[in-house]
Formats: sequence, structure tokens, C-alpha cells
Amino acid sequence: MMKIKKCTRCGIEKNLQEFTFRTDRQHYMAMCKVCIRERKRKYDKNNKEKTAARKSLYAENNKEKLKEYRKQYNQKNKKQQAKKAKESRQKKTAQKEKIKLNYYLKNKESIDKAKAEHKEKQRIKANLYYKNKHDKNPVIIQKRAIKEKQKWLENKNRIQVCATCGRLKSFSDFYKNHNVSGSDLRKISCKLCTGDHMRERNRTGRKRRSDNLTDGFIKECFCKHDGFKAKEISQELIEFKRIQMEISRELAKQTKSLPQSQ
Ligand SMILES: [Zn+2]
Ligand SMILES: [Zn+2]
Repeated sequence: MMKIKKCTRCGIEKNLQEFTFRTDRQHYMAMCKVCIRERKRKYDKNNKEKTAARKSLYAENNKEKLKEYRKQYNQKNKKQQAKKAKESRQKKTAQKEKIKLNYYLKNKESIDKAKAEHKEKQRIKANLYYKNKHDKNPVIIQKRAIKEKQKWLENKNRIQVCATCGRLKSFSDFYKNHNVSGSDLRKISCKLCTGDHMRERNRTGRKRRSDNLTDGFIKECFCKHDGFKAKEISQELIEFKRIQMEISRELAKQTKSLPQSQ
């Protein structure tokens, strides 16, 4: 059964728990806890100096205790406040996300379009930046040159037998084989042999054209010796020139075969 007691100050009948038990006198106080607190507050208000003195004296005598109390209070509060702040942040973020999602769903088409446009713009910008950076930056130009030089040195140490002269030569003595894209392969003949070959081919080609007096050869002669332009030379002119050249060649031949004593 719950015990009830009447407070002598406020006159309200309260549960025993609402009264302070005095262990020194082994009985409950006559006034309830609320009334005692109220009375103390009033007393402190009317005796400010005394209260301040009492408080400072207490603080002086309980330095360590108060320090520990404050520390614990702050720690407890800190955790709680941090927790509260975190929760409110999370709540706000969730709300924002929800609003964002709703807005996106409402304007999906235009947003997607704008996004794609922006992406394309960024891509072009990045390309331009990359190009500028690589084509103009002296550091990168230098780096590239060093890389090329290194590759050249590496290839210098690689060797291959020339298919024409049969000599063992370094890779740098062979032209690149551009027919095989991306590979590092070289032509089968060395640069020197390729040069000889090309010169020989040009020479024989020219001789053949000269012997046969081809249209191309005659055109070439016009351009070289008479200051014509290729498109100014008509077919008729070519025919005349061919006859003229044939005659002069024949004359030269006969002059050569004449006896020296003329
Ligand atoms: Zn009371
Ligand atoms: Zn060779």
C-alpha cells in the first residue's frame, strides 16, 4: 500500500517518495521536496551576498569534485549533442535527396538533355586542354623527345640482316615498315640498299621513258627546258616535239658515226 503524507507548507497530500528522508533523525521531513527547493530559491534571492559567499566557499572546498563533475557533464552532453547534430544532418540530407529525386522525375527529359550537353561540352573542353597541354608545353615536348631518343637508342642495339647486302645492321639503319601498323618492324633492306635500289629504279625508269619518248617524258622536257606548265602543253605540241626529238637524235647518231677526218 502506498504511504501518503501531507506537506506542511503547500498542504498537498503526496507520496512519501516526494519527501526527503533524514537519516540522522530517522524520519521524513515535514515539507515536500518541491517546497524545500522553492524556499531555498526564495532565501537565496533575498540573501544574494550570503549565497555567493556560500557558493564560492563550496567551490573552493570541492575543486576536484566540481572539476570531475563538469568534465563528465561536458562529455555526456558532447556525445548527446554530436548524436543530435548527426541525426538532424542525416534527416536534412534525406529530405534534400527526396526533393531532388522528385524534381528529377518531374523534369527527367530536360535534365537528361542538359546533362548530355554538359558532358559533351566538358569532353570538348578536356580534349582542347589536353591538346594545348601536349602540343605547347615545353616540358612535354622535351619528354616526348627524350622518349623518342630512348626508343632510337633501343633500336640501335637491335640488329637485323639486310636482305639485299646481307650485312648485319642495327635497327636504326632500316626504314620503318609502315605497312604493318602499330608494330616496330623494319623494312627488310637497309637504308643504304633501299637508297641504291630507289636510285637505280629511278634511273632505269627515266632511261626507259627517254628511249620510248613517252608523252610524260616529252612534257617533262617542255617544262624543264622551255618554261611551260604541264597543263599548257597540248597533245599536238607533244607530237611535234616527239618528231623534232627523233630527228635531232638521228642526226646526233649519224654525226657520231662519221669518220674523224672531216
Ligand atoms: Zn509542499
Ligand atoms: Zn643493305
